[in-house]
Amino acid sequence: MPSQYHDRIVALSRFNGGPFLTTSFFLDTDQSKRTRKEILLAAKNMIAGARADVAALDAAKDKKASLEKDLTAVEAYCGGNMTSASPGLAIYACSGAGFWEKLDLPEAPHGRIVFDHNPYIRPVNRILENRRRFLVLILDRREARWYEIFMGRIGPLASLSSDIPKKAKSGVEGQETKRIERHVDALVHGHLKRAAQMTFDILKKNGFAGLWVGCADVLHRDFEALLHPFVRERIKGRLKTKPADPLDKVLHEAEELERQLKGQEEDILLKKLVGEIEKGSRARSGLRDCLAAINKGEVQTLVVTRLHAVPGKHCPRCNLLYLDELRCPSCERKTETRPDIVDEAIEAALQRHCDIKYVNAPSKLDHYGKIGALLRYKA
Ligand SMILES: [Zn+2]
Repeated sequence: MPSQYHDRIVALSRFNGGPFLTTSFFLDTDQSKRTRKEILLAAKNMIAGARADVAALDAAKDKKASLEKDLTAVEAYCGGNMTSASPGLAIYACSGAGFWEKLDLPEAPHGRIVFDHNPYIRPVNRILENRRRFLVLILDRREARWYEIFMGRIGPLASLSSDIPKKAKSGVEGQETKRIERHVDALVHGHLKRAAQMTFDILKKNGFAGLWVGCADVLHRDFEALLHPFVRERIKGRLKTKPADPLDKVLHEAEELERQLKGQEEDILLKKLVGEIEKGSRARSGLRDCLAAINKGEVQTLVVTRLHAVPGKHCPRCNLLYLDELRCPSCERKTETRPDIVDEAIEAALQRHCDIKYVNAPSKLDHYGKIGALLRYKA
């Protein structure tokens, strides 16, 4: 996840409004699909529906007043200064506790409003988990260009031009032709070497998830031989684009490769998870067992099926999660119902510094209750 979001989401997962409920507001603000007017109308309708829900809520006066204030503030934000060009918007508000957090999202969430004891972070976590920073290198025998791809945008990072003469013309005497060819080859080799060093420096400095290289096959062989192993391991695929190609073409091709990579990574993860589940030692499957493992702090990686939501129970005293316990087995207190216990599990996992991975349904995980966990090695 992009680091500037990561800290804010962990902070959100920790927020608790005490006696007050938190409003979580999600809006599809993609202006390539709808006009600004239509987006505002959708927001207005959602807020009107939520106001009716608040009015019907069986809760103390000040609790309801806090939610009313949240909705008024969200409405004012949408109607007034919603100028962001991002395709998605999330707002978390808890007026009673003086809390307000707004996130512009690189992808549209499903529009909805959730009232709960804490921020509903799952839609935002799922969208941002997909976003990684990639480096692109487009290389030919004279030029090398480096770009950064992040959150659907491409930007230049560096470039290198080397003065390489054209290949020797035929017709020149044999010995002389060979000498010139050797000289040109040495110049190209120097160009590739500089490009390899610059790639290493750029990759080392910035936290890139991987590297896409656009380069002809014959050149790529020589270039790869010059690369530091640190760089070679991070090449995730090859692009067909050339230095003269427009940037949107580079971006489009790189994003397609990233989608494929994501699919491959999901396959590998599921294979590993299912293998461990069948062996029965270092993994858990199904909501009940996964919640128990989270409660015990045993989870290293939580694997969640996107959009799979199930209600469950939470003990406010022990802060433990259950599927259907009416009383907390640990303290005997009555548990509280939560509309989406998977979201609570994701929040608990985030607070405990676990990895959270998402897979699309249908997948192998469907046979194992749509949720699984890889456990930490025991010391
Ligand atoms: Zn308890």
